Amino acid sequence: MKEFDIIERFFKQERESRKDVLQGIGDDCAITRVPEGLNLAITTDTLISGVHFPVDTPPEAIAHKALAVNLSDLAAMGAEPAWFSLSLSLPEVDENWLEAFSQSLFEVSEYYSIQLIGGDTVQGPLAITITAQGFVPNEKALVRSGAKPGDLVYVTGTLGDAGAGLDIKLGKLTSSEHGANFLLNRLNYPAPRLLAGTALRRTASACIDISDGLIQDLQHILNASECGAKIQVKNLPLSVALKETVDLEQAYQYALSSGDDYELLFTVNEEQKGILETSLANANMKATCIGQLTGVKRKLELVFDDEPYQQQGACFEHFSA
Ligand code: ADP
Ligand code: MG
Repeated sequence: MKEFDIIERFFKQERESRKDVLQGIGDDCAITRVPEGLNLAITTDTLISGVHFPVDTPPEAIAHKALAVNLSDLAAMGAEPAWFSLSLSLPEVDENWLEAFSQSLFEVSEYYSIQLIGGDTVQGPLAITITAQGFVPNEKALVRSGAKPGDLVYVTGTLGDAGAGLDIKLGKLTSSEHGANFLLNRLNYPAPRLLAGTALRRTASACIDISDGLIQDLQHILNASECGAKIQVKNLPLSVALKETVDLEQAYQYALSSGDDYELLFTVNEEQKGILETSLANANMKATCIGQLTGVKRKLELVFDDEPYQQQGACFEHFSA
């Protein structure tokens, strides 16, 4: 099986097409239509075998994660998913692998109404690059730079689960069967917080998704907004599975510095707190207030009650080794 057969059999599928796709897979470019009053949000993420996922990760999880991390970026801007393209580098043609990969990819894409409109297929080390595009109303995008001193800091969901899942996968940590399943699922099948993202358009002053670890991603907001933050470590939301797997101290360390959770981290003016909590509840999304911004530029302060808190682990950064 060669390049064009792969595209035809696994990616150019007869599925219900979005009305705004005028030309999908099959020509030199895709052609799409952006509705009036909306802007395009565009994002790219690459996943490389052995770097972004362990080499023996199942194809279903790789496909899910490759699309979900891009959807998470759209969510962090308050954008609604529309289209994506897929650049796939494969070491060989493994039909079972491709079947599982493409099925999982289409399951996620149909769930979030995002359509595959093109891509590239090449032979090389296993790597997946997805470029996703979504709509956001004029001037409503959630940027990193809008936060102000005094704003409250929130996160959706729970933190540290995917990091603990990775350590279980690498044999550095053990858990009950139930706990391990939960944490590994959080690693392999992240849920992009799209409904939270659109709900936050009305109220959040800044937003980012947590891919590299809370403190590193919060630092991006602090740098872009020229603010500081005081974070109350004991308020970090932890899952039952994480608390059952490691002691509380370790759980806080995972929550502060491990990546891959794909929760949203955002700030909101104190006066908007009521509206924020109502709109999130309407979107069926749980969020926790973990601290407040200060006027001390770019300074991140961690406290436990009123004591300074020492954070140990480092967040993920390429080229840091
Ligand atoms: P070109 O030579 O113009 O770059 P290709 O031969 O690479 O085009 O691809 C043919 C068509 O198939 C194009 O429409 C391209 O977008 C699409 N395509 C290629 N690989 C993929 C893929 N992995 N997923 C979806 N569409 C793909
Ligand atoms: Mg090409």
